[in-house]
Amino acid sequence: MTRYVFVTGGVVSSLGKGITAASLGAILRARGLRVAMLKLDPYLNIDPGTMSPHQHGEVFVTDDGAETDLDLGHYERFVDIACSQASNATSGSVYAQVLANERRGDYLGATVQVIPHVTNEIKRRVLLVGAAEPSPDVVIVEVGGTVGDIESLPFLEAVRQMKAEVGRRNVAYVHCTLVPYLECSGEFKSKPTQHSVNELRSVGIQPDVIVARSSQPVDQDTLEKISAFGDVPERGVISLPNAPRSIYQVPLMLEAAGLGDFISDHLGLAVGTPDLRPWRRLQTAMEGEKPTVRVGLVGKYISTPDAYLSVVEALHHAGVGAGVEIDLRWVDSEAVEAHGAETELSGLDGILVPGGFGDRGIEGKISASTYARHQPLPYLGLCLGMQVAVIGLAREVLEDARANSTEFDKETPHPVIDLMADQRDVREMGGTMRLGAYPCDLRSGSVAQEAYGSLHISERHRHRYEFSNAYRERLEAAGLVLSGLSPDGHLVEVIEMRDHPFFVASQFHPEFTSRPHRPHPLFFAFMRAVKRQAGLVTGEVGNLALSA
Ligand code: GLN
Repeated sequence: MTRYVFVTGGVVSSLGKGITAASLGAILRARGLRVAMLKLDPYLNIDPGTMSPHQHGEVFVTDDGAETDLDLGHYERFVDIACSQASNATSGSVYAQVLANERRGDYLGATVQVIPHVTNEIKRRVLLVGAAEPSPDVVIVEVGGTVGDIESLPFLEAVRQMKAEVGRRNVAYVHCTLVPYLECSGEFKSKPTQHSVNELRSVGIQPDVIVARSSQPVDQDTLEKISAFGDVPERGVISLPNAPRSIYQVPLMLEAAGLGDFISDHLGLAVGTPDLRPWRRLQTAMEGEKPTVRVGLVGKYISTPDAYLSVVEALHHAGVGAGVEIDLRWVDSEAVEAHGAETELSGLDGILVPGGFGDRGIEGKISASTYARHQPLPYLGLCLGMQVAVIGLAREVLEDARANSTEFDKETPHPVIDLMADQRDVREMGGTMRLGAYPCDLRSGSVAQEAYGSLHISERHRHRYEFSNAYRERLEAAGLVLSGLSPDGHLVEVIEMRDHPFFVASQFHPEFTSRPHRPHPLFFAFMRAVKRQAGLVTGEVGNLALSA
């Protein structure tokens, strides 16, 4: 019998509900349970694929090509699972399905309403995750937004009904709230939590667990008070202060606070002692003084760090694996355009250009990759970061500064990056890119192949443009190595520069599959090169050693 845990949020947003849900998944997984995750998002977009990263942070991509909420990245990294299309449902996608059913005549004779039609569709999505093969022991469902929002009401109603659907003993309701600490009077305030629990009860949900988020550990008196008014046993009130060092401490913090045992008991799950050794090893690897390396991340959303969440996490994983602290410098690509690469990038030990769309700041990214190639400095390019590296090289080789991607200049005489053939007739913007995991063959003896230790890989994509094959030979003659190709040889997936300490760029997004215990091979190889560049060679934990 699959159990369901529903995680809601109260008082304010940005409480770390996603990290809490993911960390709960991690400690349940450590008990040998099969855990599946689902994020319910209240907004009306079908998926976040068309939203600006300024609005919504990064768009996370799954193996099966879904463009999803960034919380799915936390789920994958913490629980070490692969999410899918089924792991994210937005109000927009739920309504789209209900309306399609209505047009098809599925509800003939009925007035189509939020209850039951929309709520039934939400429950269907939740149960679909539970019905996956092999059958999960626990499905953790995070309800986006904050209790009290107009938009989340249908989700809360469906979640409330779930206890009748699968039995009260098979569901747990976890409510995350803010418990502010007032510096001036030196006390915690439980009133906002009280209001929030009342709000949750007003839609018929009695929490089983209250996670009290706060800047520091909440005192016993306040926890007892929350237990009393929340009607939750004291063991069910969990104090979760901000993690001192890293979000990857949260699983051990929740475990120490007793959440794993409480939920397992509540759901009647027969579990063994949790094996938290990988998390402890990670904790040890993160502790202590480490030498610092300076990495520049050149992008246009630098005021919204969440826009590059998986990239930053993947760097962090590689830094822990390589035994270095990363001083991450956010470099605005428009500043590189305005002041030149030397001014903005000197003093760095490595440069990373992540994915992106549109022409703002593009010349700055091209110069950043060219600067890294000339210095030479370790360079890692991700998707757009590969395309700008090709453009920069092509401008030199072809001796024509107009070489470009047709995404940025439709009239360029040298379209070295061009729209993919199957994208030419695409008119709709939502969900129409080349999305999800595709296989790639690596060239034997290349830097990429050595990093992966494998000749055949599979990585996730999200792009419309590609390397133009007409320019392969000319660029190869200038030192470019096409080190990764699609199995049919038509698509360039990875490039690198011969005779360079580390200049590797991929058309895919390796950042999505990096794990705290298992840094991604390309990020790890980049970090080792960065470390060499910084004059450091010792103290490495090693790539797979963390999970061993
Ligand atoms: N804009 C580029 C394309 O569509 C790169 C996309 C990306 O970096 N994700 O191909």
